[in-house]
Amino acid sequence: MGQENQSNWLIKENPYLYNMRKEFVDILIIGAGPSGSVAASIAHRSGLKVKIVEKNLFPRFVIGESLLPKCMADLKEAGFMDILEAQNYQKKFGARFIRNDQNCLFDFSEQYTDGWSWTWQVPRADFDQVLAKEVEKMGVSVSYESTLTDISFEGSTSVSTIQEKDGASYQIEAKFVIDSSGWGRVLPRLLDLDKPISSPPRKAIFAHFTDNLRPKGDAGNQITFVIHKQDLWTWIIPFSNGLTSVGFVGNIAHFENFEGSPDERIKQMIDDVPQMKERFTGQEIKLDAMEISAYAASAKQLYGPGFAITGNSSEFIDPVFSSGVTFATHSGLLAAKLAIKTLNGEDVNWEDDFKNHILQGVETFRTYVDSWYDGTLQDIFFYTSETAKDNPTNATMKKQICSVLAGYVWDETNPFVKKHKKAVSSLARVIKMF
Ligand code: FAD
Repeated sequence: MGQENQSNWLIKENPYLYNMRKEFVDILIIGAGPSGSVAASIAHRSGLKVKIVEKNLFPRFVIGESLLPKCMADLKEAGFMDILEAQNYQKKFGARFIRNDQNCLFDFSEQYTDGWSWTWQVPRADFDQVLAKEVEKMGVSVSYESTLTDISFEGSTSVSTIQEKDGASYQIEAKFVIDSSGWGRVLPRLLDLDKPISSPPRKAIFAHFTDNLRPKGDAGNQITFVIHKQDLWTWIIPFSNGLTSVGFVGNIAHFENFEGSPDERIKQMIDDVPQMKERFTGQEIKLDAMEISAYAASAKQLYGPGFAITGNSSEFIDPVFSSGVTFATHSGLLAAKLAIKTLNGEDVNWEDDFKNHILQGVETFRTYVDSWYDGTLQDIFFYTSETAKDNPTNATMKKQICSVLAGYVWDETNPFVKKHKKAVSSLARVIKMF
């Protein structure tokens, strides 16, 4: 159906839309987070007319401040490396885990998979604005304070209704839509694609603190995970601006022991934990504490005629391994590449090359998240670290696990990826015998 006939059909179906302003694009992207910006850059470079609609005015805060090395290749391919290098974000070379007096470091330069051995720890309001501005500089139209409220499809062509800040609406007709709307989860909601979550709902409370007692050198700048109980842990993510993000995550019941405003409660939680108290009691909160719960998300479909769903809008499991932004950039990049091919009339296997590919990574991380919360992965981390020095087999396993933590969950030569469930449960069984 030609563009004009499409429009006639929609106007016939929705006569009240007759007088509405209408734009035409090849690819419409919902949301200017990392997923949307990467998708926009890739699609724009292929010569297509691309537009992003973004509900908020930037800078806006989103949680998700520790990246994984795997996302660096996506950011580079999307053309963001120079502008990101110029921001001097805190470099992240690994991740440290602490449980009582046990301490283990996964160093990304000692991993199994070839790839990036470092990444960044980023204040997201700033990071996301840098990416979105860069995309605008490339020539992509980004409309802020513009919320997609409705969409209808005729075949693979869609007409979306966009509401602007002043309440006025207009339409965008697109040959393809990439939904990168994060927790907005626009297409899963509008197309009834939400999938129920089976894992128990968890909660997080977080804030940015001054960090005047930050230890000097690498140790002070490292992301650190402090495990308090099997299902209660803290992240400490130092930034290059001197502030540090602190967040508690766990079973909702743990949070019921604290009272007052979110700022008061996160301070009480810090005072409750010796490793946290020493560094953060008395520090000033610079970004007010926020809470989020039941954040896991899943969709029944990740693509359909004329659309693909990326980043958090599609799947999100848990914050523990900092995988969210990496899935966001990777799925955004892939969706844009496949959309370009689709619009060029090429045969595209969306089932294998998009859905199954993304879900393979998601399922790999799910094994690690599940075994983190049942405690077995924590045992694996500390055991392999303590024994790696004297035991070459354990040293190899530590490298293979390190690659998963670096985000290389598509490297099927890694047994801790290829047979993730079996590898993790077998190792946990062996460790229990010691
Ligand atoms: P977002 O960055 O959320 O961007 C989506 C954009 O879409 C937003 O700007 C929004 O305004 C816009 N939007 C929404 N609805 C509409 C609409 N109707 N119309 C137009 N625009 C719309 N990930 C990590 O990698 N590292 C971490 O350390 C980490 N920590 C986390 C901690 C917690 C407690 C939680 C819950 C998550 C964490 N994550 C982390 C996950 C991370 O937050 C997300 O995976 C990541 O932000 C997803 O990026 P995105 O581009 O898909 O969506």
